[in-house]
Amino acid sequence: MTQRFLQVAIPVPLRQIFTYRLPDSLTNQSVIIGERVLVPFGHRQVVGVVLGVVEENDTALCNLDENKIKDVISRLQDQYHFDASLMTFLRTCAQYYHHPIGEVIQLALPVLFRQIEQPDLSFEKLWVSTAVDHEEALKQFSKSAHKQKALLALIHHHQGISWSELRTLGYAKTQLNALEKKSLIEEQELIPAPFIWHDDHLQASNKLQLSVEQAVVVSAMTSNLDKFSCHLVDGITGSGKTEVYLQVMEQVLANSQQVLVMVPEIGLTPQTLARFEDRFNVPIFLHHSGLNDKERLDTWRAAHRGHAAIIIGTRSAIFTPTPKLGLIIVDEEHDSSLKQQDSFRYHGRDIAILRARQLNIPIVLGSATPSFESLQNALSEKYHFHQLTKRPGNSRPATLKLINVYQQQMEHGISGTVKKAIEQTLAKDEQVLVFLNRRGFAPAINCKECHHVVECLRCNKPYTFHQNNQLLVCHHCGSQKRMMKQCGQCGSIRLQAIGQGTEQIEQHLNEWFPKYSAVRIDRDSTRRKGALAKVIQEIHDKQHHLLIGTQMLAKGHHFPDVTLVVILDVDGALFSFDFRAAEQMAQLLVQVSGRAGRASKPGQVLIQTQYPDHPLLQDLVNNGYPHFAQQALDERKYAKLPPFGYQALIRAEANYPSYPSGFLRELSQLDLLNCELAGPIPAAMEKKAGKYRYHLIVQSVSRKHLHQAILHILTIAPQIETAKKVRWTIDVDPIDFSW
Ligand code: ADP
Ligand code: ZN
Ligand code: ZN
Repeated sequence: MTQRFLQVAIPVPLRQIFTYRLPDSLTNQSVIIGERVLVPFGHRQVVGVVLGVVEENDTALCNLDENKIKDVISRLQDQYHFDASLMTFLRTCAQYYHHPIGEVIQLALPVLFRQIEQPDLSFEKLWVSTAVDHEEALKQFSKSAHKQKALLALIHHHQGISWSELRTLGYAKTQLNALEKKSLIEEQELIPAPFIWHDDHLQASNKLQLSVEQAVVVSAMTSNLDKFSCHLVDGITGSGKTEVYLQVMEQVLANSQQVLVMVPEIGLTPQTLARFEDRFNVPIFLHHSGLNDKERLDTWRAAHRGHAAIIIGTRSAIFTPTPKLGLIIVDEEHDSSLKQQDSFRYHGRDIAILRARQLNIPIVLGSATPSFESLQNALSEKYHFHQLTKRPGNSRPATLKLINVYQQQMEHGISGTVKKAIEQTLAKDEQVLVFLNRRGFAPAINCKECHHVVECLRCNKPYTFHQNNQLLVCHHCGSQKRMMKQCGQCGSIRLQAIGQGTEQIEQHLNEWFPKYSAVRIDRDSTRRKGALAKVIQEIHDKQHHLLIGTQMLAKGHHFPDVTLVVILDVDGALFSFDFRAAEQMAQLLVQVSGRAGRASKPGQVLIQTQYPDHPLLQDLVNNGYPHFAQQALDERKYAKLPPFGYQALIRAEANYPSYPSGFLRELSQLDLLNCELAGPIPAAMEKKAGKYRYHLIVQSVSRKHLHQAILHILTIAPQIETAKKVRWTIDVDPIDFSW
């Protein structure tokens, strides 16, 4: 009998597929590509996923010493294997990003499936009534047993209700047991059925009458639901993009197909979910980092069974198995949180397009500030381009105004003009949003006597002072220490905070406007689970008039009573080394502005800057984002920068600067066809957490040549002498050059 071998993807950072022998005892059922197996790896046992099956004399084995090949320990045969389509997708992703397939597959696998001890896969147990004649059954009860009777009626009515629900409704276990003893009810495992659409799943009363602009978009999309097409919906905030999504989704759901909705990390709020639930009475499942492992597994299984009609999730939701996917929506497609910034650095939007193409289904990208990549694809007619330029009803977009603060007397970073505008807004009982993308109290502490700045020794950057807990925190590596009483250099006690963070602004607004409640929304204030949702609700209920926040506040939330938005500091982005900084600044400005005046009240946005004449700001304020984007795209084209050229970033780091720079220098000598190399250059954060970091950028106008270059680099790099001393990674289509 010929022996069989399995090629297995294992969760290790090695660009390699591992081969195992399948012992005869495990061959009873044929092996499925995508199934999970338990295999030995070093001294451990790990769960791997089968990529292929090869016979004894296959050439794939010719480089291996057969005696060293180990046996598969066991096969985890449940129905939850990856289907062929998802396997192909995962392999394509691994190839595109040149990332080890084992880690890619690992990411797609729910945590509980990665463990040797496999999870309990039984479904929820629910109570159903079994009486043949319900009315007859009710007659059996004596008058005093009305609680039992009511319970039976309830169970009969629901035909599937859990004990925990019954308990919340006030029933006791004894009552349940009594009914079970009489054989009137029993507990059954409820196996969720694949989703099938019925007309009554639509809450038609909530459906809005589309505007002409919206109707055009919906009909363009719904006329071609049976094949791949990519649509960019470029619509100002509040122009009704979500309504467009809902009406397109309705058509897809009507075919009993699934819909995947991708949102940025902080865009997923109870309000978002409520909007989908209000419209569709179908199984909706969430996928995001706030869920625990069990909840994530539930979503995964529901999607896998075809039970989940709608899956709403953050970037990694794209890896959920969806046998009947009919539409993908990527909301806020410009958002940088769609790109994973460590390990497997994929872009959720980009691979969503790949997935849609593979499945031959439509995909919709939506944003008020489209990424330049998508915009360029739309302008060149690779994507269908739709613009929503108006808000429904009479609500008008906010007006943007630059406030010159050059050589102005400022109080805690706030100009007189702005203070006055805040005062006037509050007097009208309207809300104010103050935006500052810097949390903490102050971004630096120095000594008034010797001017020494307190720095994190691991990063050589100033510590941020957090007054609330009297801590100095390094926002780069996370290290912290207690705020000192004296200067470490000269012993003086005259230490001062420099600059402003959100904590400080909150404190001063509280002092200035004691009659109004101020609330801060940043990563520090919303750390606890549910805290963000709670404060968003309080803002809607107008418990707070002054909202101070970082970019957390800039996304997705609708605050109809905010009529003034203040942006305290935009100048950082104007002179950045990073060619994307202007794009990101413009997106942030427009997104923050979009929070204002969304109801019928007109909004106003005040932007403090020392450079009011700066052409980028002028263009954005006077001509709007589309014009700004067009200008910036022209510049990028001239410089052959993305989206007109393609990049890969090689990052290297080590304890000494000479290692990463030397390693990258060797790579930079390579002769790579049709590619340009820039570097090595120290990263903007040259030192972080004690490591020195260097960059090498590979750039080409041809994607094909870029990929060939990366493949070449991957074979050469391990042979370089310093390779073992540095940690290096490849980032395809990088968006963050700061580290
Ligand atoms: P976006 O997603 O572009 O920010 P939304 O879809 O959230 O915009 O719409 C903004 C507001 O306008 C919402 O309150 C929504 O209910 C309302 N709206 C959207 N489309 C219509 C329409 N066709 N008629 C009336 N109101 C609409
Ligand atoms: Zn000092
Ligand atoms: Zn640090």
